[in-house]
Order: sequence, then C-alpha cells, then structure tokens
Amino acid sequence: MQQIYFFNEGRRDMRSLLGSKGANLAEMTHLGLPVPQGFTISTVACHEYEKNQNQLPTALQAEIVQSLERLEAITDKKFNSVQTPLLVSVRSGAAISMPGMMDTILNLGLNDQTVIGLAEQTHNERFAWDCYRRLLQMFGNVVYGMPEQNFESVLADFKRRNGYRTDLDLTAADLKAIVGRFQELYLESEHGAFPQAPEEQLSLAVAAVFTSWQNSRAKVYRQLHHIDGNIGTAVNVQAMVFGNSGADSGTGVAFTRDPVTGEKKVFGEFLQNAQGEDVVSGVRTPQGLSAMEAMSPQAYQQFLTAVAKLEQHYHDMQDVEFTLEHGKLYFLQTRSGKRTAKAAVKIAVDQVNEGLIERNAALLRVDPEQISNLLHPEFAAATLAAQTPLTKGLPASPGAASGKIYFTAASAKAAHEAGEKVILVRQDTSPEDIAGMVVSEAIVTSRGGMTSHAAVVARGMGKCGVVGCAHLVVDQEKQQVTINGTVFPEGSELSVDGASGQIYQGLLEATQATQDENLQTILSWAQAVGQMDVYANADTPSDFAQALDFGANGIGLTRTEHMFFKADRLLKMRRLIIAGTVSDRVAPLAELEELQTEDFYQLYSLAQGKTVTIRLLDPPLNEFLPHDAKELAQVASALNMSVSALEKRVAVLHEANPMLGHRGSRLAVTYPDIYEMQVTAIINAALRLKQAGVPVKPHIMLPLIDTLPELQWVKARLVAKINDLLAHARTSLHYQIGIMVEMPRACMVADELATEADFFSFGTNDLTQLTFGYSRDDIGSFLPTYLEQGILKEDPFKTLDVEGVGKLMKMAVDKGRYQRRSLPIGVCGELGGDPASIQYFAEIGIDYVSVSPFRVPSAILACAQAAIKRDYQASKVAVQPS
Ligand code: PEP
Ligand code: MG
Repeated sequence: MQQIYFFNEGRRDMRSLLGSKGANLAEMTHLGLPVPQGFTISTVACHEYEKNQNQLPTALQAEIVQSLERLEAITDKKFNSVQTPLLVSVRSGAAISMPGMMDTILNLGLNDQTVIGLAEQTHNERFAWDCYRRLLQMFGNVVYGMPEQNFESVLADFKRRNGYRTDLDLTAADLKAIVGRFQELYLESEHGAFPQAPEEQLSLAVAAVFTSWQNSRAKVYRQLHHIDGNIGTAVNVQAMVFGNSGADSGTGVAFTRDPVTGEKKVFGEFLQNAQGEDVVSGVRTPQGLSAMEAMSPQAYQQFLTAVAKLEQHYHDMQDVEFTLEHGKLYFLQTRSGKRTAKAAVKIAVDQVNEGLIERNAALLRVDPEQISNLLHPEFAAATLAAQTPLTKGLPASPGAASGKIYFTAASAKAAHEAGEKVILVRQDTSPEDIAGMVVSEAIVTSRGGMTSHAAVVARGMGKCGVVGCAHLVVDQEKQQVTINGTVFPEGSELSVDGASGQIYQGLLEATQATQDENLQTILSWAQAVGQMDVYANADTPSDFAQALDFGANGIGLTRTEHMFFKADRLLKMRRLIIAGTVSDRVAPLAELEELQTEDFYQLYSLAQGKTVTIRLLDPPLNEFLPHDAKELAQVASALNMSVSALEKRVAVLHEANPMLGHRGSRLAVTYPDIYEMQVTAIINAALRLKQAGVPVKPHIMLPLIDTLPELQWVKARLVAKINDLLAHARTSLHYQIGIMVEMPRACMVADELATEADFFSFGTNDLTQLTFGYSRDDIGSFLPTYLEQGILKEDPFKTLDVEGVGKLMKMAVDKGRYQRRSLPIGVCGELGGDPASIQYFAEIGIDYVSVSPFRVPSAILACAQAAIKRDYQASKVAVQPS
C-alpha cells in the first residue's frame, strides 16, 4: 500500500489523502511552477501510525528511506553528506488548516558535521550555524516539548551580555557557542543528546506531527470548528531552499489581490536575506514587493506571471509563500487567501465580470456572517491588535462604538443631549431603558443571553450590543461598574466591539459603514437564486423602511408590545396592565387602539401590498412593571394612584417565573378585550388603506399557542370581532390568522393546530428556551462554561440545535403539511437570521425567515447559498448510478 507521494504524483483534489498543503504543492508542481521538491507522507500513514500504538510501522519506515533516496537523486544532495548535505523542512498539513497542531521544523538534516559542510558550501559560516541553532530550537520545542522559553533565554542572555539589539548582531562564533549551550539543554532534559543521525531526526519529527494530531489544543480546535477527528494529518518533507543565503536571496508572502480592499493588484511583503519565520515573527520589518523587483527584476516578472497563473487556475484569490535563493524563485505554499468583507464582495463581483467564475460560485465565496461588518462600523484589526480587552461578553449585535458609560436611561439621555457619545451599561434592560438605548452608541449588560431583551432590541435597532458580561458588576447605587476588579465610575470612557463581544478601556476609533455597490450586486444575484423569502422583524416604520431598503419582502414579526417602549406609550401600557377590572381597562384600551391603528396604518402604507404579520401582545409582565421604589413613586403619580395601591397591584401581578407565566395567548383568554382592541386597530387600518386603493395583507399572529382548544377559543373571538367590523363597514377583506409555534407541545400537535391556523411561524427563542429548559434571560451564568467545556458546541440561542430543537421543528413541519400541504411556514425567532441554521430550515421545507433589519442582507445571501447547496446535492444524487 502506497503511503508516500512525491509532489509530482499528487493533485489538488487529493486533499483528504495529502492534506491541503501537500495537495497544493503537488498542484503547483503539476502546473510547472518552481517548487522545491519533496514528498507527502499521507493521512493513511497517520492512521497506520495511530493503529500501531503511536509507533511508525516498519513498512512506513522503509518507504520513508526509499523516498529519501529518491529525493537525494532529484536534488543531487545527500542526507548526512558533509560535501552536499540535503536539508529538509518538515511541515504538518491536514485537509483543513489546523493551528492547534505541530507546525514546522526547518533545516532538518543538520548535525555537528553537516553544519561544517553547509558553511563551506555557502561560504557563509554565520548562516550555517544560524540554521543549526534554529533547528535545535524548533526540534527541541516541537518534537520534545522543551519549553521555547529555555532557548529564548539563552539567546536573550547572549545578546544582553554582548550589548546586542537583535539576533542579526550575533556572530558566527556567538552562534557556535549558542549551539553548544542548546545541546547542553538537550543533555539536561529527559531526552538526552540531540540526535545526530538525520534519518533519526526525520523519524522523530514525522512521529511528532502524527502525535500532535491528538494533542488537546488540536482536539479543542477541531471541536470548535466541527472538524472530524478521524481525517488525520499528512506530513510534508521538502528540500530546503534558503532565503537567507545572501543579498541576492529573500523570502516573502503575497496575495494575488489586495486582501483588505479587494483591488486587483498583487499585494505582499518581502524581506531580503531572510527565512520565512523572520517575516512572521516580526523580528524585522518587511518591505513591499518593490524591494524584490529592485533586487531581481527578472525573478519579479517570473513571480507575477506565476501568481496570475495560480489565480486563473484556482479561480480564487491566492495567498502564496515564496523564497528567492541566489535570485532563483521557489514557491513554498499556495492557498485561498483570507480577506475582509469588503474585499470578499469586490473580488467575487470582479471575478464574475472577468469571466473567471459563475455567479453561483461568487455567491458561495462570500461569508454571510461577514456581510454584517459592511453594514456596521468596526474597529480595524490593527487598532485591536494594540489593545488588551477588559472583558468579554456575548456578541449580541455587531458594530463598534466608543463613548462614556451611563447606568440609567435618564442619565444616558441627558448626556446625549449634552452632546456626549454614550454607552448604556446595565445589569439587564427592560422597556423603560428604551429611551436610553435609542440615544446610545452601544448597549452592554452583565446578564442575559443572545435572545434577552437587550440583545433583541439592540439587534433590531442595528446598534452595537454586548450582553451577558459575567465579569462586569454594575452598582446602580454608587453609579459605577467593576470590571475584573477595576472600578469605572459614570462617565468613564469605554469601547465596545459588538462583533467579538470584547470591551476595551478608552476611546478606540472605528471605521464607518458605507454603501457598498458590490454588496448590492451580490444581494441582487442572491435574491434571484434564493428559494426562501426573507421578511423583517420590525416594530416601527423606521425599522421597516430600513429592512425594505436592505431587500426585505415584508414583515414576518411585529412585536406589538415593543410598540409601547416610548415613555408616553409605556405609561398607557402600564395603565392597562395595572387595571384590575374590565371597566378599568376601557379607557387605556381606547387610547391604545387609536395609537395602534396609526402604527399599523403606517406599516401597511410602507408595505404596499407586501405581507405584514402582526403578533398580538406577548409581554412577559415583569417587563412592564415598575422595578424599584423610585419607579413605583413615579408611576403611581403618573397614573394618579397611591403608591400603596400600586404596590398591591404589582404584588398581585408578581410572577415567580414571568417567562412561563401570564403572557401570550394566555393573556387573550383572561383579558379577551386586549386582543379584540388590537384586531380592531389592524382591521380599521387595513380598511383605510383598502379604501385608498392600496393593497393590504394583514396577517394576525397568536403567540405561545399550546393546544387546539386554546387556539379555537381565541380565534373564535377574534373572527367574531372582525366579522362585526367588516359588517359594519359593509366590506370584505382578506386576512389570515396564524400562530407562533414556540411551545414543544405545539410541535407535537402541529397537525391539529394546522386545522385552524392559516400559517405557522416558529418562535425559536421560546422553543429553544423550553426544549432545553434554559431561561433565555439567565443563561449568562452557565452557558459560557458549557461552551468552554465543550458540553455544548454552540449557543443554541445563536445557532439551531439540530438534534433537539431542529427535530421538533421538522416534526411540526411534517405534521402541519400532512394536515395541509400548502401550509405556509416561517421562522421568526433569532435563529431565522443565523446562516448556519438557515441551511437546515431550507432542508426541512421552511418558506421564509424573518430577521431583524440589519440581518436581512446576510439572510438573503444565506438563503441563496442554501438553495445552491441543495441543487448541488440533488444533482449529485441524480448522477449516482441506481
Ligand atoms: C420567539 O420566541 O422566538 C419569538 C420570536 O418571540 P419572542 O422573542 O418575542 O418571545
Ligand atoms: Mg416567543
């Protein structure tokens, strides 16, 4: 069984066997590019090694020896030869890049004899001894696990004693002495002397790469990135070329297009007389590629032609590593280049226009998550690299913001009015905080998860938000916050990165979001391909207008309780909730009906015939009750009642578990007049528009439905009310009454519910909460540990738990459609905007997702990607022989 492949025997599609680095080295060789020759010990060998109790099997050892002989013949050099020593690099390389593993050993093959040969051959003693000390250092560290620090302190000691500033000041004599000291370190360790036989060095290095596949860092990385642990790694053994062999040599990295802007221009860095690690370690500051052009115009031209060929061949922007040895060019690596969101959309559109790729390929090239970076300000990577975060929370809503911290809506508002940039910091937020949230650049809470009030509202407003910062303690009394032991009083300056959840001290500068034409192009292509509709979760006309601008096809969820967040409305809402009897509710309901009619009128006007789905009231009551003595006094006076009367009413309404309490359609059963008021407002608003000739599509949605009798009970009253209104107006109107499917029980009886519901919309926030039994607002205290420990792979409020919640959803879809084939089904919980979850929604036959306005573009792209992947899967199945 062949376990080793020379570079001229492989191809790029052999990644699972050769790893991605090996497959690309083979492909470059095949393309005729100058690649230092070598071979790849395949992933099959890795499996054999593991099966053989982490020992290199004899057959593999024999194949390595044969391969070395072949490499000696190709390079005309010999392992262990003093005259013409063959030196190799040993690099790990799995099919998917894996930073947790052993990476690279250079200059393998050097020993006390061959180093002298190398010095003579290159006429450069310093160079040869520098190569040897690097080998001792890398080998000791990665093969024997000797601490890097032990080697570094020898080097540092030497430089200090001689008054040197950098490694470059070390002389050949110094390096010889350092090599001696490094060899003593080996002797002092449990491993004994540095192995002098190059064959032994190689066997140990190969075994170390295979062993590193199972080290804990690699395992954690694989777990985090869902990489299968069984794929194994390959090892690349490649003849060394030296960028540090003189003034006509050098090394560099380059991208075939600018990875920041996407501009079609080769971009890179070059270091004369250096080895690759000098560029990476930052010991010396690299120059631009013009330095290479100045050094060797001919090699530079050859380089430009080669990288253009690589991009044409791979149909994607490439990131290459190369070396010049005495003016001769070699490529050491090529791979698809990482790029910013701006560059990603520009490169995708440009490559379609250049005829390099198809539109579908372009759509798959852009990461939907990355798109939101284009819609929000962000901190530049260089800015963040120079900072240490104070703490980290959950990245609830993207964006980047700096400002002074305030702890109440009122103080935030006052500071904003005084011209300050404000960050609202709270333990958690409730509707009263909205006024403060509106004026803030960012919202930070110490509690709550990805679907908490603060998270949902910040996302809806398109504002930067970080929630659940467990190491941040807010002291409302003292008006200060303590972050990991440091106290920050009101007015302190902080910066918040909503993309990562990190919080920084001081004011960091953020880049501004701009209209990106390439993004518009990508989105228009995506809309033509996507098979699911994208609606918006919008509570206000301005949110809806924003969502329409981003390409939303209507509204999939208006949370009507969110329409009462402004101070004057909040009071009216409180009056309603606090009212004890039907007659006490008449006045506040009349006031609210007037406001709601106007709200809905505005939404329908903007929709111009598109669907507008209005969810009837679903407030967890605690969100609307006064919380402390100060608020109690304020509300009592505004409602013209005594504090003690208010206190009594609040006590009656108090619930031990408001999320599972008197909310949603339960409110309709106990207070039918509230939902009747809302449908009256909906129908009257719709009729006004109908009369004006504007098409309207009211979709009324009932939250938290559990049982068929409950749905029938609520629906019957609403239909009766609507029939009255239409009879009175002597007209007819198309409307629908659907339900939120957000209770596990509703999933179980979805076939029954489908007999009455005109549509289903999954509320994945509550469905996840109830399926796991995790309170949405309290996950901050334990979920991070579950994620750290790998007990959960993902936050289920951020990415669908396919095995549990997903299974319930599929059951509900199947049952619902069994009852009624054409039943429209959507998702309006936060997972509707998660690209990874969208893929699954497409698979189970969901018709639409409804997402907060700023997530509309990424959802449009994710829906297109899901459709392309499904078509691709279907075509694969179609061509399979039966
Ligand atoms: C849900 O539960 O997913 C949902 C959309 O409703 P809310 O977040 O308002 O409870
Ligand atoms: Mg819900």
